[in-house]
Amino acid sequence: MAIPVPPQPPASEPAEAASQDFIREIVAEDLRAGRHTRVRTRFPPEPNGCLHIGHAKAICLDFGVAEEMGGLCNLRLDDTNPVKETQEYVDQIMADIRWLGFDWDDRLFHASDYFGQLYLWAEQLIIAGKAYVDELTGDQIRDYRGTLTEPGRESPYRNRPAEESLDLFRRMRAGEFPDGSRTLRAKIDMASGNINMRDPVMYRIRKTSHQRTGDTWCIYPMYDWAHGQSDSIEGVTHSLCTLEYEDHRPLYDWYLDALGIYHPRQIEFARLNLNYTVMSKRKLLTLVEGGHVAGWDDPRMPTLAGLRRRGYTPEAIRDFCSRIGVAKKANVVDVALLEHTVREDLNRRASRAMAVLKPLKVVIENYPEGRVEQVEAVNNPEDPAAGRRQVPFSRGLYIERDDFMEDPPKKFFRLSPGAEVRLRYAYILKCERVVKNDAGEIVELRCTYDTESLNGATATRRVKGTVHWVSAAHAVEATVRLYDRLFASEEPEERQNWQEDLNPHSLDTMEGCRLEPSLAAAEPGARFQFERQGYFCLDPDSRPGALVFNRTVTLKDSWARIRAKG
Ligand code: ATP
Ligand code: MG
Repeated sequence: MAIPVPPQPPASEPAEAASQDFIREIVAEDLRAGRHTRVRTRFPPEPNGCLHIGHAKAICLDFGVAEEMGGLCNLRLDDTNPVKETQEYVDQIMADIRWLGFDWDDRLFHASDYFGQLYLWAEQLIIAGKAYVDELTGDQIRDYRGTLTEPGRESPYRNRPAEESLDLFRRMRAGEFPDGSRTLRAKIDMASGNINMRDPVMYRIRKTSHQRTGDTWCIYPMYDWAHGQSDSIEGVTHSLCTLEYEDHRPLYDWYLDALGIYHPRQIEFARLNLNYTVMSKRKLLTLVEGGHVAGWDDPRMPTLAGLRRRGYTPEAIRDFCSRIGVAKKANVVDVALLEHTVREDLNRRASRAMAVLKPLKVVIENYPEGRVEQVEAVNNPEDPAAGRRQVPFSRGLYIERDDFMEDPPKKFFRLSPGAEVRLRYAYILKCERVVKNDAGEIVELRCTYDTESLNGATATRRVKGTVHWVSAAHAVEATVRLYDRLFASEEPEERQNWQEDLNPHSLDTMEGCRLEPSLAAAEPGARFQFERQGYFCLDPDSRPGALVFNRTVTLKDSWARIRAKG
């Protein structure tokens, strides 16, 4: 008899329009109005630390907008402060961006590429009476700057003749003066309501070698002076940055107008904040230098290197960035959403395996000594193409210590004396006897198995619980690192003493774990679901015979729960 087919939805839904945020709207409108024919953006990291998940948001936006609108995105290293910047950070930044899945092709630039041009422009502003050499010390400059409620005071050097400033500026460059003794400042307005406009410093003396320009320069441009002009040189159309630069925009515009050069548009968006962590590179560096974590790539760090080592996929991070969207209003995103996205991705892709983290020995008394059977296990129920594998089964097994209770409560459906449980992909097991040591601790379970109960077509009986296991003789030993949140409170960055808020239980190292033998061949970076435990990734610390796995995330989805409560 033919079964009536219910009405089907159209074969494919129309592609969902790329989510439109206010920035994409502005850019699209600029293109429609013909203000630009081709979008050009840039991602401008300062190489003074490793990239974090907040930078991933900016990368996805900068590269994403360009890609979607048929434009290009430059990578520009904002290397204006040689005291804090290194080539190692530069290399790590480039590796991280590529890992995320973005490429700048031949468009790698450095603010230091423009030091010569910036210097000439500075002279131009001096000659035009729009910049001067100041001799106040750093402390004095701060003191003269005023406050939010009080206007600043003009430096006594402000109105010196342009020729004098020009001469001094050239001598600053020639290395005649010590660090901190002079600065070049823009002459704008010491009474401005915007403190950034109160004669901002453009250059300071720093007799420090630069990782690219060596000792060519001993004066270095400040961020604000370098940034907009670099954007202009590169023909950037939309210079996307985080909200703290909103108050710098008048200055960004002022410099470009004062020079009369091509004028890109700066647009600000809210930075990503995540709960239970800190995000600024300065604070992350403090954690590294203070030995609170094992390095920038410690799997508890919100850095891309840390997340990668933890087992996060670039796809999950990009998905996360697209879900949080881009807006003008600052907020704190729940880390549970980040965990949810990686869980979803790994659920689709990660091979399953059995791993016993806290082993308890089981001996099956009616299973013949020396016999080994291969049972068949599904590699990924979400992906039939992933196939099946053979897992050895024998008389001696390990099960999870927590899957046994000598004196269980009513609803405990795992193993206890006299009770039965199914061994995943294998037989039904019954606990006959508990063996204890002199201290009264359980050291072994003596069990029997139901010879007719092999998982699959012939299985006639069902039992309530199923537990994972490994064959003792075949298992590989491993160390497993379980991670928890790095900080105890939700917004450590709000706290004065944020370093005291570290979660003392953020790392739990389990030694002597037993894994199914197929895992011995895993490559560093390989990701698995350990059944019933979570997702795990092989750590680069692993050596043959001494595997180390990191738990990426547990199976419990707190985000789904948060969302359901809505
Ligand atoms: P941090 O405060 O973490 O040191 P930063 O802004 O000083 O960050 P940069 O290397 O200057 O770090 O940042 C490069 C780009 O990444 C900038 O455009 C910046 O606006 C953006 N960015 C930095 N942090 C975040 C964040 N949390 N969310 C979104 N974008 C960010
Ligand atoms: Mg910065």
